[in-house]
Amino acid sequence: MDFNLTAEQQMFREMFADFAAREIASQAERIDREEAIPQALLQKIAGQGFLAALIPEEMDGVGLDAISYCLLLEEMSRADFSVAMLIGIHNGLGIKPLLDFGSGAQREVYLERMANGELIGAFALTEPSAGSDMAALTTRAILTGDYYLLNGSKIWVSNGDVAGLFLIFARMEPGVTAFLVERDTPGLKVGYREKTLGLRGLSCHTLYLDDCAVPTANVLGAVGQGLQIARQAAEFDRLGLSAICLGGAEQALAAGIRFSIDHEQFGGPIARKQAIQNFVADAVTEIEALRDLVHHTAWLAEEGEPFGHRSSMAKLFGAQVAMRTTDNMLQLHGGYGYMKEYAIERLYRDCRALAIVCGTSQIQRFLIARHVYQGANLQLTIND
Ligand SMILES: Cc1cc2nc3c(=O)[nH]c(=O)nc-3n(C[C@H](O)[C@H](O)[C@H](O)COP(=O)(O)OP(=O)(O)OC[C@H]3O[C@@H](n4cnc5c(N)ncnc54)[C@H](O)[C@@H]3O)c2cc1C
Repeated sequence: MDFNLTAEQQMFREMFADFAAREIASQAERIDREEAIPQALLQKIAGQGFLAALIPEEMDGVGLDAISYCLLLEEMSRADFSVAMLIGIHNGLGIKPLLDFGSGAQREVYLERMANGELIGAFALTEPSAGSDMAALTTRAILTGDYYLLNGSKIWVSNGDVAGLFLIFARMEPGVTAFLVERDTPGLKVGYREKTLGLRGLSCHTLYLDDCAVPTANVLGAVGQGLQIARQAAEFDRLGLSAICLGGAEQALAAGIRFSIDHEQFGGPIARKQAIQNFVADAVTEIEALRDLVHHTAWLAEEGEPFGHRSSMAKLFGAQVAMRTTDNMLQLHGGYGYMKEYAIERLYRDCRALAIVCGTSQIQRFLIARHVYQGANLQLTIND
């Protein structure tokens, strides 16, 4: 058993960390305040190849292995949660389904433009009555000649302000089908942007579909395969999210350590108080446990082994570690942690979404328990 990163993975990590420290970290406060990721930064991110992270080298991508991809998201998130989320959604929920289910022609049309940032990816599944219960979605598709007409609406579509290609799920017998829908498709309207607690650089929009005319060539995978595509994409995305949790927790811990050395009470730095050391010791222990879980899950994915239940565990634990760490590091800051002047206030708000997005922690627990009981020959269903 070798726990070391390979020389290439180590090199990638240093490159990601260097870029994040130079280009992103200093902009994090501004991204939160202005509620947008600057276009110039997005272009630099594209220039680094981060938007082509998962595209194989033979398709002119960067071809990161799963561990390196997790290192990318971890390092981005050490600098800014919103930037990491944008990159994760684009790669994990935009490009990955296209790689896994797309036809040769679809890859030809979209991959290069997604790789260079011309088209940012977005994933439109959730509806007001179809959140955890994704199969309950009511957006409909009807075939008319060479087009499908999509009607309905989607909520909380991340990357909505910058996305050029939406993966939209709609009901059509048999079952649910996934469609690749370009932003300028007639009948597609990117609507209301939500006001959010955190992750303010990541825009969450409502999508309106009013006889949205999608060419038949833009069905992803087979007709009726939509839920399988969504589930497979979510399994992989949860792995990426767990790496984002890891990076965010590390960022919070670093802020806490700095503050505890600089801030004095009772005649010395608060770092000398055991209560403060306990916060730090607990955080670093959980962070290292999370790192192992993330890397092991990524290794399974890379080996082609089943990893879905592991990515649920990594995402569940990751959200807990990120939330506990930011909460405790905010507490360590005392009143300063509550003030916008300190980054921990932003991290505390940002990381709250991680227990909700891409399947809540309650749903992850169900998926994990279902896997466990399968081993004991008891089949659990979500409707139990
Ligand atoms: C910041 C943000 C970004 C998002 N981005 C996207 C995006 O890009 N694309 C997209 O499609 N969606 C997106 N979402 C939606 C997200 O995936 C859903 O919020 C999530 O799946 C939960 O659905 P819901 O909010 O409708 O909650 P509900 O499903 O209504 O759940 C409400 C509560 O009930 C619990 N619950 C529900 N069913 C069960 C059950 N069977 N057992 C136990 N507990 C249960 C849930 O855990 C939760 O606590 C985003 C959400 C947020 C907050």
